[in-house]
Amino acid sequence: MTDDLAFYKSLVDNLQDGVYFVDRDRIITYWNKGAERITGYKSRDVIGRSCRDNILNHVNTDGLQLCQDHCPLAGCMQDGEPREADVFLHHADGYRVPVLVRTAPIMDAHGNITGSVETFNRDNGVMGVRTELRELRHSVNTDKLTGVGNRRFLDARLHSAISELSYERDLFTGLVMMDIDNFKQVNDMYGHDAGDLVLRMVAATLQHNLRKTDVLGRWGGEEFLVILYGLVSAEWMTVIAETLRSLVESSRLDLEAASLSATISTGATLLRPDDTPETALHRVDGLLYKSKWGGRNQVSVG
Ligand code: GH3
Ligand code: MG
Ligand code: MG
Repeated sequence: MTDDLAFYKSLVDNLQDGVYFVDRDRIITYWNKGAERITGYKSRDVIGRSCRDNILNHVNTDGLQLCQDHCPLAGCMQDGEPREADVFLHHADGYRVPVLVRTAPIMDAHGNITGSVETFNRDNGVMGVRTELRELRHSVNTDKLTGVGNRRFLDARLHSAISELSYERDLFTGLVMMDIDNFKQVNDMYGHDAGDLVLRMVAATLQHNLRKTDVLGRWGGEEFLVILYGLVSAEWMTVIAETLRSLVESSRLDLEAASLSATISTGATLLRPDDTPETALHRVDGLLYKSKWGGRNQVSVG
């Protein structure tokens, strides 16, 4: 490699952004360090593979799989137009990461499209929650297995969320309870350690896709509780709960023995000024069980 080429390679290698290149057959021929950091996949894991092999397995907020028919890289090689999209990519540890993706065609000296480059980075709008969680991790309020809040933390936050209701009359606070479906089967079939990894994957998908102001914790065994602050309407709570449900469903942990995924049943309700933690929890628990009886992997709002 000439000095010039080595310089440019090192420049792109060390960008904060993830950068990768696919040729016309959508074979990945370049993968920088930023891409390794954001996705957990090393360059040797992906070079020579097709981006449609479902390694990254991009989905959008509706859970639509992009890699087969809606790939922005393929699109910009067809019409020569750059693209930008908010997507959720699959991390090597199984969870979903929100990223802003930009793609652009690459042309040779004659103007023929020879491939396409994608740059991506964490979507900072929803990522601020990470900082908050890092501070929490070592505190008594953290669940050791999943790194999200524990029951004690949730109890305290729920209590104050109800007392705060009287201040903000135009905004609503949502309480969302989620329980992993048929989780006993995961333990029975793949062992308790694999079950633990699935719990962590689900927690990470929830944690990475909530807003900075929301509160997430593990309520018990395979149950999670979320408090959504500052909602403009009950519909918005349904949208968030549905998005989380869909993102958990499309998360996948690749182990040697098998690929593991999970679904959640969800109950969601707005907190009321005359609620106590007990009445709010009773209501949301009833809605969660409505989702179980309704066939699981669904959201009930009430
Ligand atoms: P449902 O769809 O009705 O919720 O079925 P389920 O199998 O998820 O429900 P059930 O309450 O029967 O089983 C929950 C299981 O979760 C049983 C328990 O062994 C498992 N579990 C609870 N905490 C942990 C944990 O920390 N790690 C692992 N691996 N499993 C756990
Ligand atoms: Mg369960
Ligand atoms: Mg349960």
